[in-house]
Amino acid sequence: MSKKSHIFKAEIQQVLDLVIHSLYSKKEIFLRELVSNASDAIDRAQYVGLTDKAVVADAPQWRIDIIADKDERTLMVCDNGMGMSEEDMDKNLGVIASSGTQAFTQALKEKQGADVPALIGQFGVGFYSAFMVAEEVTVISLKRGEGQKAVRWSSTGSGTYSLEDAARDKPGTTVVLKLREGMDEFLGEWRVREQVKKYSDFIAYPIRFGEKGEAPKDDAEPLNTMKALWKRAKSDVKPEEYEEFYTHLTHDHQPPLKTVPVAVEGMVEFKALLFIPREGGFDMFMPNRKHGLNLYVRNVFIGADFDLLLPEYLRFVKGVVDSSDLPLNVSREMLQDDAVIRKIKSNITGKILSTLAEMQKDAPEDYRLFFTAFGRILKEGLHFDWENGDKLKGLVLFPSAKTEGNGLISFKDYAAAMPEAQKDIYYLISDDLKTARQSPHIEAVAGRGFDVLFLTDPVDAYIIDRLAEFDGKKLTAVDKGDLELGSDEEKSEAKQKLEAATTEYKSLTDFIKEHLKGDVSEVKLSPRLTDSACCLVASEHALNASMERLMRAMNQTVPDQPRILELNPNHALIQKMNAMYAADAADPALADYADLLLGQAQLAEGSPPKDPQRFNRLISGLMVSE
Ligand code: ADP
Repeated sequence: MSKKSHIFKAEIQQVLDLVIHSLYSKKEIFLRELVSNASDAIDRAQYVGLTDKAVVADAPQWRIDIIADKDERTLMVCDNGMGMSEEDMDKNLGVIASSGTQAFTQALKEKQGADVPALIGQFGVGFYSAFMVAEEVTVISLKRGEGQKAVRWSSTGSGTYSLEDAARDKPGTTVVLKLREGMDEFLGEWRVREQVKKYSDFIAYPIRFGEKGEAPKDDAEPLNTMKALWKRAKSDVKPEEYEEFYTHLTHDHQPPLKTVPVAVEGMVEFKALLFIPREGGFDMFMPNRKHGLNLYVRNVFIGADFDLLLPEYLRFVKGVVDSSDLPLNVSREMLQDDAVIRKIKSNITGKILSTLAEMQKDAPEDYRLFFTAFGRILKEGLHFDWENGDKLKGLVLFPSAKTEGNGLISFKDYAAAMPEAQKDIYYLISDDLKTARQSPHIEAVAGRGFDVLFLTDPVDAYIIDRLAEFDGKKLTAVDKGDLELGSDEEKSEAKQKLEAATTEYKSLTDFIKEHLKGDVSEVKLSPRLTDSACCLVASEHALNASMERLMRAMNQTVPDQPRILELNPNHALIQKMNAMYAADAADPALADYADLLLGQAQLAEGSPPKDPQRFNRLISGLMVSE
């Protein structure tokens, strides 16, 4: 192949410029990125070699060499991993996975000036960090397997890269950095050793240093200890070591919120090192999201993002699992129904749930952070994982009428704070917290000093059935059915009062019902209002307004189910209407007022009035008439 020049895809150039400029103060991370890529390439070769012997026909001793040449001012990172074909190079080094690039540019826009180094790691653009220290980067690679040809990729990081045939007899990849002026520090063994120790000590293959452009001897002392952290006792590992490993694994720039080492012996034996991150990646809710843990079998890397090891609703958990109870030549398909895998999964699930419960008890602020970041995902478990339903119920938090700011409350704390007179747990499903807080539906309940949970996540509508009760206390929607509050005595007193008022207001409510026919199913006096004049409620088993909107947004047909308009007989407006009706039942203003009442009730629950123009005209009319 003659030398061919290619232009970087447009976004790549942008990303490149960004990487070079924004990471400049942390330029040494390029070494970590290249070593990490080399280690991944060996993982892949080792795994493919399990089933395809041709790939490991040379019986390789896996290794990563870092070779400096002070005269040429070059630094090389060599591995004998999987290698890349011309096509691989074009695909991997000429573009960033296009979904990633888009999300990356989007995240940059949203987080204006935010932590760019963090984003870079997260979006898999590590290779490009080499351009921070190198004026030219050359990659020479020979892919493992039969019939492959060596290829050279080269670029100065300004717009184009070239691809041409190369000479390389052993499979693997060499990345050659022609260092920029002032970067000579990276040619010294001391500096390289320091970086490897700091960021790459746990890499499972020996990383050795060579000078004068020569590969280190096979028996040269590696720079890293190669100790698989998950195999070491927790007491032997420093917190920084866990953090470095986490960074290697996730590219997250923040330390994990919680590190969970697991060692299980007995029926199944495995070790795991699990992490709960502080924040979710950009793809947590995307359909093609990755989730799962990296799986090792007796130290051999089997696969990344192994989704059989964790339920979907714990997809925020990162980490590795190493088991000696699985066969080495396994494929994902074979493991689908594997009993050992199922046991590991249920064990890890239990461990994560108990860790979260502990965190909730011992470090509530951390738990609040966790729940704010991942609560929505965790809640999916209530729908799917019935077995752990009670544990999950204990873990969910909600904002409530009594919590302030971004505070959240658990069922347990809610129940503990219930006044004697309160029997049920009250909740309101709503699109957002602001609408919920101002909702007329909570007036009477809150007025009695009872708290109301606000269910404002779209997923809440799906799990509400699973939440039917907590600790023997029924969950009751404040905007549905007949709301009965207080002691039996109070209830019967309230009922009598309401019945008396109902007779008094009967003609008016009949009139409004007739006028709003088709829009509401019923007009009643309300037990739940204290300040507002009116509100709309659903019957006990119907969907409320927020759930209706959610279903429409998902293109589902929503049954036509007009709701009940409730009026507050203690409100001056309703009293005035009653007097107007008594004075002249044919007063045309009554029909306008009825329309206004309905509009108000719709606005209060976050829906637009049925006919916004008419609603505005009526209000304007009222304003001029005064
Ligand atoms: P990431 O490693 O996060 O995917 P990079 O930009 O660092 O992103 O690398 C892009 C891709 O290039 C890798 O996913 C891999 O397929 C390929 N690659 C990089 N370095 C090597 C290497 N030493 N050997 C084989 N493939 C490599």
